[in-house]
Amino acid sequence: MCTQLVHPNYVAPEGFSGVQPGQFSASTVFFRSAQAYRERNWCSGEGYIYGSHGTPTTFALESRISALEGVQYCLLYPSGLNAIAQVFLALLKPGDELLVPINVYPAVRMLVLHELVPMGIGCRLYDPTNLESLLFARNTKLIWVEAACSITFEFPDVEAIAARAKESGVVVGLDNTWGAGIALDAYGFGIDISVQALTKYPCGSADVIMGSVTTQDRELYTLLQMCRMRFGVSVSARDASVVLSGMNTLRLRYEAHDSATRKIVEWANHRREFHRVLHPTAPDAVGQNIWLQHCSAAAGLFSVVFKPEYNTGYVDKFIDSLRLFRIGVSWGGPVSLVLSFDRNVASVTELPGVLVRFCIGLEDVDDLITDLEQALFTASQQ
Ligand SMILES: *Cc1c(COP(=O)(O)O)cnc(C)c1O
Repeated sequence: MCTQLVHPNYVAPEGFSGVQPGQFSASTVFFRSAQAYRERNWCSGEGYIYGSHGTPTTFALESRISALEGVQYCLLYPSGLNAIAQVFLALLKPGDELLVPINVYPAVRMLVLHELVPMGIGCRLYDPTNLESLLFARNTKLIWVEAACSITFEFPDVEAIAARAKESGVVVGLDNTWGAGIALDAYGFGIDISVQALTKYPCGSADVIMGSVTTQDRELYTLLQMCRMRFGVSVSARDASVVLSGMNTLRLRYEAHDSATRKIVEWANHRREFHRVLHPTAPDAVGQNIWLQHCSAAAGLFSVVFKPEYNTGYVDKFIDSLRLFRIGVSWGGPVSLVLSFDRNVASVTELPGVLVRFCIGLEDVDDLITDLEQALFTASQQ
């Protein structure tokens, strides 16, 4: 009786096929024979060895993301930040040097400072908008790039950075979360590795944390795969399933976020409260030419820098008066978000006033503009 409970006779008929691959959860997977086990080769990505090395669900998601980015290899990680950390750990050894942009995603700066530097990995900041200042040392192994920066939205010349790195034999890694595989052809720039926080647009419903790394380079793929295995990193079937569903509507959602954001940026450009609007389409956007040349869209994010006379009290009142925009970190979901950043946010753009970042969701754009207008009005009332 107990035996039958765990050894069911039922065998699923072969050839099940639906839009989604299904949610396969396993630690143990069965081998057909002793020989099949002896000959296991989990590196091939063809067979199943152990739940953490891949299931039909995770392999399906990896294959969709590599198709999205136009390359052969993809690996999943439990967060975008973990994907970045794994790239660093797989590629860098004590004595090596990593170059990181000044305006890098703040959590990456913390990772570098508090984890990599104590390991004896050298880290140098560079200005991604001033390539004259970009220098590679003999021990530089990896240069990290973000296009665009996710707080101030400067767009760097990724192609020029990659060309310079190639001359010095330096690997180029791009944080491609902003572009999500839609706005730009990352590998067309000559990069080696692309990372995405799937948490953002690919998931799209703000209920999963996950990351991906893609590459076209077999050697880099193997290095990353080994590192991931040795650290025991894997993702859950439920989470992979949610992201797989998100992939179906990724392009439509991205385009909707993009066009709504452009309209709101247009509105923001004419408001007297803002010293500057930060978005690739805004007047005087840093790297606008490069963005125009290489990108078809600009995600659903922008920031404003308030004029210095609008103090923190005013800005807090503005934020607290918003009804549709919710206060929250992350982005890429259906609900619009707002956050204020303190003045010492590491940036290559001068910030004379309080910076507020908006993430545009899927609400009607006119409702969002009305909300912003009423909140600015309310904040101006004593
Ligand atoms: C969110 C984000 C990350 C980190 O992703 P998590 O899944 O939240 O760990 C990395 N880079 C950028 C640009 C991001 O926006």
